[in-house]
Amino acid sequence: MAEQGYHDYKCKNCGGPLIFKGDVNKMVCEFCDSQFDMSEFKDDERVREETSDWSQTAGATMAAGEAGMNEYACNTCGAVMVAEENVGATECPYCGNPLVIKDTFEGMNLPDGLIPFAVDKKSAQDALKNYYSGKKLLPKGFIDNNRMDNINGVYVPFWLFDCDVEGSVFYKATKERKYNKGQEEWKEIKDFAVSRAAGMKFEKVPADGAKEMNDAYMDSLEPYDYSKITAYNAAYMSGYVASKYDEDANAVKGRVDDRIRTTAKAEIRKTVEGYDSVSEQASDIDIKNGKISYCMIPVWMLTTRYNGEAYTFAMNGQTGKVTGDLPVDKGQATGYFAKVAGIAFVIFQVLMFLLKLFQNNNVVGIEIAALVVALIIGAIALSSAKSSMVSHQKHEAAQYLKQGSFKLNRKEDRHTGTRNELVRKAPEQNAGAK
Ligand SMILES: [Zn+2]
Ligand SMILES: [Zn+2]
Repeated sequence: MAEQGYHDYKCKNCGGPLIFKGDVNKMVCEFCDSQFDMSEFKDDERVREETSDWSQTAGATMAAGEAGMNEYACNTCGAVMVAEENVGATECPYCGNPLVIKDTFEGMNLPDGLIPFAVDKKSAQDALKNYYSGKKLLPKGFIDNNRMDNINGVYVPFWLFDCDVEGSVFYKATKERKYNKGQEEWKEIKDFAVSRAAGMKFEKVPADGAKEMNDAYMDSLEPYDYSKITAYNAAYMSGYVASKYDEDANAVKGRVDDRIRTTAKAEIRKTVEGYDSVSEQASDIDIKNGKISYCMIPVWMLTTRYNGEAYTFAMNGQTGKVTGDLPVDKGQATGYFAKVAGIAFVIFQVLMFLLKLFQNNNVVGIEIAALVVALIIGAIALSSAKSSMVSHQKHEAAQYLKQGSFKLNRKEDRHTGTRNELVRKAPEQNAGAK
């Protein structure tokens, strides 16, 4: 379409995307009907810019050389952990490789807040056993009871983002109606320029500050009950390991911005109703009054290495929700497939015998059909067993939208024109045929 390209220009009245209309030689806004001369736009006004404004207060630190504290490093994934001397962490909860104790305690930034562990080690081990049990494709000996002891209670560093959002979104939308003209079928398409502006608040959108932590695990451990956040106190560290952050708030800001913008747009989109088609043309989602705080979140974690790969089990230390992935044993998978398909085939034989289908003379055809069906059943069972080896779940920021904070500030639906399209021609008269 010739008009694309110009969508980068913003209307000075409503912010909508402008299109160039050759017949009037002007830039025209379909959303508020404004017109502008080309000369009114400088190059730097062209680009649609979204702002995000975040600030962070500096927190307290645990001084270097703190008595009774050890610092551990994983030389494989780079994680650095802090724990009391008697905790004796020996393996990296993120990658399963050995942790080495550092000579000196280099200090640590303390969180603005912390969610204490509410699930104890015994319950975490039980949940882990439960998670493994019934997994038919798990290699034998992948886990034994001794490994269960290595499950670590880890305070994972988190950045929590609070902000206000002001957003406007512009859509083209249509209402369609079919009608008949003689023997022809037509469609009437009414075009609308739809614009919305809304404000809303987000509270404590989380992003972890540990590079080593797989984001998919954290996303699926959510939500945490933030009402239980308390001020940091050294006593909460007792028996647990704190992971030092190696991604500061600036490093994760982009991911949080995207998450907030996606959710804000989805919320605004919900207010565009009653159309047959809606397509977004442009949007400005500004993030304001952003505040970032640093929080430690409890996770029970155990990573086991198998054939050079790391498999992590993680559990929300507050709610007990679990996530993880497990290796698939090729031999077990083949055996399982053969077993299910074999049983299905036998059942078919019995059914056919009972139904006296063998009296039919096409026995070979029926047998082949039964075999194919049995193989399909085996494949379905195998793929469902395989998918049970991985459990992740992704969330957008919708659950962090503050209840009742959504305010619609602009709601405009302008009818910009009506088109008629031929859907189906009248059937041809067979005149002259034969
Ligand atoms: Zn406008
Ligand atoms: Zn590691």
